[in-house]
Amino acid sequence: MERVGICSICGSASSLNTCALCGRLVCNNCFDHSRNVCKQCSSGIILSEMSSERSGLI
Ligand SMILES: [Zn+2]
Ligand SMILES: [Zn+2]
Repeated sequence: MERVGICSICGSASSLNTCALCGRLVCNNCFDHSRNVCKQCSSGIILSEMSSERSGLI
């Protein structure tokens, strides 16, 4: 089911996706479909993945 509204990131009117992390409603352009999160949370995930790879052991 598609919801149409104003994207929380870029402010354009579009069909929206809900970020699994922050719960914001964002348009397709601002949504990372492979991770099911918004672009802002996606960049945070990438940063944390890089840092965990760098540390090696968890
Ligand atoms: Zn947007
Ligand atoms: Zn988010």
